[in-house]
Amino acid sequence: MLQSSRSVMGNYGTRGLCMQRGEGVYLYDVQGRRYLDFTAGIAVCVLGHAHPQITATLVEQAGTLIHCSNLYENTQQNRLATRLAELSGLDKAFFCNSGTEANEAAIKLARRYAYLKGQQNRTKIVSLPRAFHGRTLGSLSITPKAAYQEGYQPLLPGCDWASTLTETLEHIDKDTAACFVEVVQGEGGVHSLEVDFLRAIENRCHEAGALLVVDEVQTGVGRTGSFFAFERVGLHPDVVTMAKGLANGVPVGAVLARQEVADAFTPGSHGSTFGGNPLAMAVANTVVDIVAQPTFLEHVREVGDYLSTKLQSLGDEVSGIGLMQGMTVPDAKSFVAKAAEHGVLLTAVGNTRVRFVPPLIVQSQHVDELAQILAQ
Ligand SMILES: *Cc1c(COP(=O)(O)O)cnc(C)c1O
Repeated sequence: MLQSSRSVMGNYGTRGLCMQRGEGVYLYDVQGRRYLDFTAGIAVCVLGHAHPQITATLVEQAGTLIHCSNLYENTQQNRLATRLAELSGLDKAFFCNSGTEANEAAIKLARRYAYLKGQQNRTKIVSLPRAFHGRTLGSLSITPKAAYQEGYQPLLPGCDWASTLTETLEHIDKDTAACFVEVVQGEGGVHSLEVDFLRAIENRCHEAGALLVVDEVQTGVGRTGSFFAFERVGLHPDVVTMAKGLANGVPVGAVLARQEVADAFTPGSHGSTFGGNPLAMAVANTVVDIVAQPTFLEHVREVGDYLSTKLQSLGDEVSGIGLMQGMTVPDAKSFVAKAAEHGVLLTAVGNTRVRFVPPLIVQSQHVDELAQILAQ
C-alpha cells in the first residue's frame, strides 16, 4: 500500500516518485519501474545501491556495536581518522553526521583557532559567490543565496562574500578567520573554478593569515577522479570538510585539519553524540578501502571523461570534473521531469542547470544508455 506523504513537511515540495529499492546504478519505484540513477542520492551513493560489501559491513557492524558515544574511543573511528589523514596530508579528524555539521564545525574551529592565538578580532568568514555550504544557521550564513536565507535573519554575524570571484580576494583580510571554497561548486550549478583563481585565494589566505577551508562535501571521496578534488588543482588546505560520499548513504560528516589548527578543539570545546559512531565509521572504512584504490580512481577519470564528451555533443556549457558534470538547458525543472518519464534520474541545480552525479561504479554502457535517452 502506498502511504500518503500528508504527514511530511512541505520543504521538499511535491515529489512525483516514491522509491522502493536500488541495485547498482538503478533505482526501482513502488510500481516496480526501473530508473537509471544519475543522482546517486545527491552525490552520496558512490558505490551505487545495495553494494554487497556495504551490506556485509552494515550487517557485521550492527551485530557488533552500533553506538557507544564519544565517551569512549572506538577502533573504527581511529582507523578512519588515520586513513583520512594519510589521504589528505592533514593530521587530525573530527566526525559528525552531515555536510552542514562539518562546515559548522569548521567555522567554529577557525574562530577558536584565532581566539586561542589571541586574535580576538579575527572572526570573519569569507565565502564565494554561488557557494553552498549547508542549511544550519552557521553554514547558511556562508551560503550567499537569497532564496535559502529568506526569512531566517538574523544570520551569523561576521560572514562576508563578494559579488564577483575576483573581488573575493579583497575581502580576505587581517580580520578573516577563514575562507571557504569548493573546487567545483555543486549546488551553485556545477561550475569548476579556475585553478589560477583557487591558487590566488590560497595565496591571499596565507598573506592575510586566514585559514583555507576546502569544502569537499560533494567533491570528496573520488567524485572528481582523485580522492579529494583539491589534489587535482594543487591546493594546500588547512581544513577540509567531507560528508556526502563518505559512507555511501549512512549519515556521516568529517572535518580534517592540520595539527596546529586541530589543536584548537581542546577537551570539551566541541562535540556530537552520534558523530563518529562505529556503524557509520565501519561503512566509511569500507568505502574508503574501495574508492582510494588507484584503479578505482582511474575508472572514475575514464568514465568521467566519457560522460563529459557525450554531454558536450548533446548540450551547452558542460562543466565539471570527473563524475560531477553540469549542463545548461532552457528549463532545468521540466528537463529533469521529462528525463524521469523516460527512465533517467537527474537533478536540477538552479533554473537552467542539470547535474550529473552518478554512482562512481557507473560504466560507459550506462553513459550510452543516458545519452540515448537524452538525445530523444
Ligand atoms: C550538500 C552539501 C553540503 C551540505 O551537506 P548536508 O549533508 O546536506 O548538510 C555542504 N557543502 C556542499 C559543497 C554540499 O554539496
